[in-house]
Amino acid sequence: MEHSLSQKIFAKISSPSQFAIDVAIILLLSTITFWLAQKYDAFEYLVEFSRAHEEYEIDEILTLLMIASFAFAAVAYRNGSRLKLEVLKRRKVQQSMKKMAFYDSLTGLPNRELCINRFEHILNQSARTSESAAVLFIDLDNFKEVNDNYGHDAGDILLKQFSERLLGQLRKGDTLSRFAGDEFIILLESVGSINNVTILAKKILDCIQTPFQINANETTIGMSVGIAMYPNDGQEASVLLKHADTAMYHAKNEGKNTFRFYSNELNKQARNKLIIANQLRQAINSDEFTLHFQPIIDVISKNVKGAEALLRWESKVLGNVPPDVFIPIAEEVGIISTIGEWVLLQACQQSKHWHNLGYNDFIMSVNMSAKQLGREDFINVVESCLKKSELPAEFLELELTETTIMKDVSSALCRLEKLRKLGVSIALDDFGTGYSSISYLRKLQISRIKIDRSFIQHIPENKEDIAITKAIISLARNLSLNVTAEGIETAAQQKFIDNTIVDSAQGYFIGKPMLPSIFESLFFKDKH
Ligand SMILES: [Mg+2]
Repeated sequence: MEHSLSQKIFAKISSPSQFAIDVAIILLLSTITFWLAQKYDAFEYLVEFSRAHEEYEIDEILTLLMIASFAFAAVAYRNGSRLKLEVLKRRKVQQSMKKMAFYDSLTGLPNRELCINRFEHILNQSARTSESAAVLFIDLDNFKEVNDNYGHDAGDILLKQFSERLLGQLRKGDTLSRFAGDEFIILLESVGSINNVTILAKKILDCIQTPFQINANETTIGMSVGIAMYPNDGQEASVLLKHADTAMYHAKNEGKNTFRFYSNELNKQARNKLIIANQLRQAINSDEFTLHFQPIIDVISKNVKGAEALLRWESKVLGNVPPDVFIPIAEEVGIISTIGEWVLLQACQQSKHWHNLGYNDFIMSVNMSAKQLGREDFINVVESCLKKSELPAEFLELELTETTIMKDVSSALCRLEKLRKLGVSIALDDFGTGYSSISYLRKLQISRIKIDRSFIQHIPENKEDIAITKAIISLARNLSLNVTAEGIETAAQQKFIDNTIVDSAQGYFIGKPMLPSIFESLFFKDKH
């Protein structure tokens, strides 16, 4: 109470608006005094008073009044300064008390109380925004040994360095707290998917692999991490912390220096993902990738005019892993660009080989991901693949989805322009499933759209899909764009497409993705 009062006073003293009010009051008082002095002729009154009482000289009265005013001003100033100093002193004490109450004195991190408080705040926020949050319960493995071997001071140094390393891995807004002894808590808000949490857990485990320098000694330490997710593993801070703690014990039991989710399902997902990511890293060198080629035919002549290159992965450890499983993981762990570059070069070389066989108008289509398009060196990579394979640029078509382009429209526009200058053409893949922003069709410098299979698959029975497909075709044609219909799987669908102004088609009815040798035997018979 006393504190808040002095704070208020201090705020008043130091506030610029209060200073302006004070000046206004002084001016007002001076004006009133001046007006009263004028109206009642104060000086005349003083002279009268001095005449009536001979013992009081007028100059003495004035001197007395001046001394009294100065003394009053001096006392007021002294008291004001004292009050200011007192308030500052108390504020300092209060700040250090607050720090002691809510922050850990060794690491400077939020302590248990502040951590729980923040966690409750995060959960309230997550409930409002329907976003997920995560709590990571961290316990150092065999920390006691450090204390026993090197002493408690060394243990303290280690804890400090450990917390600094962890902080370096977190996003702004994430909370790292020292919960107790060698227990730490990380709070993550708006985490998105569990994959992001898995990646962070892996990152913090990796970041402590380098030994810690403690005085003259180097030492390594492990940690066990238990993870609970809001809202799946609980709604309240206490429940989630308890579950993260349980998960941490599972991590300890399963060999330490690892992480575990509270939910078994999430554990399985995270484990699978890590296994796939590890295998993916060696897939190129172990020759586990192959390219399959799906024929694209000219609707009128029915001749093959090109193919879409599709990546297949036959892992020596995991067997056949479908692209929709491994591509997102390759994107997450940052190896999609390496894989994408390999695909592009292989596809260009294969295409060049077919050109050499005499099919010199064959067009190779290669899918590009947002991560690839987003790279600074993307154009250089395309250029170098064309150079290495000696494939002329006009026979390469890159397939991009609208979502890929919309991730960063301005840099995508700039790169597409450069590709066009190189002579490479661009196809908008899966058209109709993304933003389908018609105004962008013009700006994007694309030469082809590929109508998504989802529109074709219910043709001819679904009249609405027929209407949509016809509308897309006529829109594209009016914009002078070529059109490929994807997902032709029946004779009826082929017949429907034959009666439109689509120029090319692709799908199981025409040919599945296949190895180059089979492709040659099926489609390049005449030149063999
Ligand atoms: Mg495609």
